[in-house]
Amino acid sequence: MSTLSARAQLAFLEKIQRLFDEGEFSATYKFALMLTLTELAIEYGADDDTELALPLDLVAERFALWYWRQASAYGPASADSEDGILVQNLGKQAAVINRIRGVYNDVQGNPARAPGHPHWKRVISDIRAIVHNMPLRHLQVIGGETDRFLYDYPCVNKILVLKRGISHNLRRFSPLIQQLAKAGWLEHIRSNRRNSELLGKKDDLESFMFGTPRAQLAKVSPILADMQDRRCFYCQGKLHSQVEVDHFIPWSRYPRDTAHNFVVAHRSCNNDKRDMLAAKSHLERWLDRNERIGRELGEQMQDQGFVSNLASTTEVAKWAYGETLRMQGYAWIATRRQTEMINEQYTALFSINQSVSSRTNTPTTR
Ligand SMILES: [Zn+2]
Repeated sequence: MSTLSARAQLAFLEKIQRLFDEGEFSATYKFALMLTLTELAIEYGADDDTELALPLDLVAERFALWYWRQASAYGPASADSEDGILVQNLGKQAAVINRIRGVYNDVQGNPARAPGHPHWKRVISDIRAIVHNMPLRHLQVIGGETDRFLYDYPCVNKILVLKRGISHNLRRFSPLIQQLAKAGWLEHIRSNRRNSELLGKKDDLESFMFGTPRAQLAKVSPILADMQDRRCFYCQGKLHSQVEVDHFIPWSRYPRDTAHNFVVAHRSCNNDKRDMLAAKSHLERWLDRNERIGRELGEQMQDQGFVSNLASTTEVAKWAYGETLRMQGYAWIATRRQTEMINEQYTALFSINQSVSSRTNTPTTR
């Protein structure tokens, strides 16, 4: 259990707030780095007071994913951006965009295919150097002074070590940190004069930067429907025309599209569930589905352009239910807002399914 005191948590939050308010941000890198560290803490960290060691390659790969969509054109060419790509820096374009672009174009924007690209390893090692020399170096400079409260610097042996309790705090406060980082990133893009022509009158910047195109989601709907025997994931009723792709762990908790987090449901069920976690019977069904056909589902979703990693998606779910249990939150059972309070039986399901969440990945707590 947590040994973090309320005072330590408050001090952490104040520093995060200052980091966004007073940090020196000439590029958008620091926003992407904070988002990356928060996600990796959720997927690889634990709710205890330990350190978390993250290989810099893993950090670099996730960092690259945050820029992935932004390596495509936002609009037509402009005087300041001849390729129509948003400018991420007050000076010349951010190097990470230039490093990603070649692969992005070769794999038609499908991030699941990037690791198979012959240049990907090279790209990641370049990005690893960029991340180490730029945002990791500068992130903890607050108001002109260095305060290494998150990690020591420079990193040794290409491993980033989050200090004791940091990953726990990132896990706990992830919704707030994500909000601050995204708002800051958007503001940075908007206020960069070199983007003004490109932004023009469009108002879809946020969904372009952080969302998934509807067309791409629409493509996975029939595939998932087939895998569910054309029945709603939640109420098991027949699916007709009003079908929606639902994020099993709601987007509001974890805003990333991953293969195994998708289900299809009636629009009415989906709308009623909204930002709630699903009740125990649904969670059992979801874990069971992923154990039975997780591999096939992952491959099919990868073909449609979604990243697939069952072990980390399971960790995300475990985290989301654990947090909601801690906060004495409720889960959604069925339409008309039938709900129940989450209890230990929910989180116990994850230890039964250890085979799914056991991992061979390198990050470790210590
Ligand atoms: Zn339904």
